[in-house]
Amino acid sequence: MNVPFLDLRAQYASIHNEISAALRQVFDSAAFAGGPFVERFEKEFASFCRCKFAVGVSSGTAALWMALLALGVRPGDEVITVPNTFIATCEAISFCGAKPVFVDIDETTYNMDPDLLEGAITPKTKGIIPVHLYGQMADMDRIMKIARAHRLFVIEDACQAHGAEYKGGRARPARLRLGASRSGEAIRRDESPRREQSRTVGSIGDVGCFSFYPGKNLGAYGEAGAIVTNSEELAEKMRMFRDHGQVKKYYHSIIGWNARMDGFQGAVLSVKLKHLAEWNEARRRNAQLYDTLLADTDGVITPVEADYARHIYHIYAIRSESRDALISTLSQRGIGCGIHYPLPIHLQDAYKFLGYGKGSLPVAERCAEQLVSLPMFPELGPEQIQRVCREIRSFLGVKV
Ligand SMILES: *Cc1c(COP(=O)(O)O)cnc(C)c1O
Repeated sequence: MNVPFLDLRAQYASIHNEISAALRQVFDSAAFAGGPFVERFEKEFASFCRCKFAVGVSSGTAALWMALLALGVRPGDEVITVPNTFIATCEAISFCGAKPVFVDIDETTYNMDPDLLEGAITPKTKGIIPVHLYGQMADMDRIMKIARAHRLFVIEDACQAHGAEYKGGRARPARLRLGASRSGEAIRRDESPRREQSRTVGSIGDVGCFSFYPGKNLGAYGEAGAIVTNSEELAEKMRMFRDHGQVKKYYHSIIGWNARMDGFQGAVLSVKLKHLAEWNEARRRNAQLYDTLLADTDGVITPVEADYARHIYHIYAIRSESRDALISTLSQRGIGCGIHYPLPIHLQDAYKFLGYGKGSLPVAERCAEQLVSLPMFPELGPEQIQRVCREIRSFLGVKV
């Protein structure tokens, strides 16, 4: 039994009728670039994120770039982010002419370490981009507090975290009991401990940026992205920018770009958004099974769900000091793994000019040498997870 790292066809097989019908509507109405299918998805996605506005764009990279431009980032500015991300986060900063400044990460969540933020702020700093890595949110309350104190914007890079939640999201099953209403009628009363209302990914910072790259938790069948915000002004700016700065066809009030979402992707995403909560639940169940089967296994560190977080496991990454040997053994046995990411951004050739040397961001560097992403997708079955864990334990010489 081979276990692929990711299997997009399994998911397509479960929804292909819905997808075919949705695509046919786009063909029939010829709304290929932007248009009603994108607008419908924007409304649905804004409501999913509990934000007022969503703007559909051509990719997550475009979303990040446009968010930075809309927030006024200019050449010479500095934007703080983390080195253990997909390079797009930094490219977006660079394409505004600004400079990425890196802070190291927390070793348990692999997200931005808020304790290091103040030390990275200079008079040139304009904003902060925390990345909700692997599907778990960064500690937003602490980041927002520092950002507000220094009048900095916050863009959430939520490209891996569609549907993740912050605080209050760990709902215990509600304990319902029958009580009596004043009229004597029996009513169901929820007496579960009162929790703080959870907040949804993308709705806490000034702007949230999403990628719908096919492999993401919410993936298009092509390239797409979105920006969510509660600011009408920012939404309007980004809406104009993605469409050549025009408010009215062929009347351009700013210099923009073509970063529109195409109609097919809007239609596909509307279909898939309906299933996202259930798919994220399946990922969480899969993660729980991995956690159980790998518990107390000397030589691996399993992911930690922070007590503030509802992790949606875009990636399930474990740590091992013999990572490379582990990956090649698993691969020989037909198990696909990934590394997210093998080289932190500050050590990439493209970013050597920033002058960070090896050793400058030690936690991110250590994690980059040890992390391995195991197969993870909603349709992954328990016997496949059992097989992966058996092979890992046998590799480590632990009783299988
Ligand atoms: C996928 C991803 C992006 C880029 O999204 P694209 O749609 O591929 O342009 C940006 N940041 C992070 C953290 C990502 O995982």
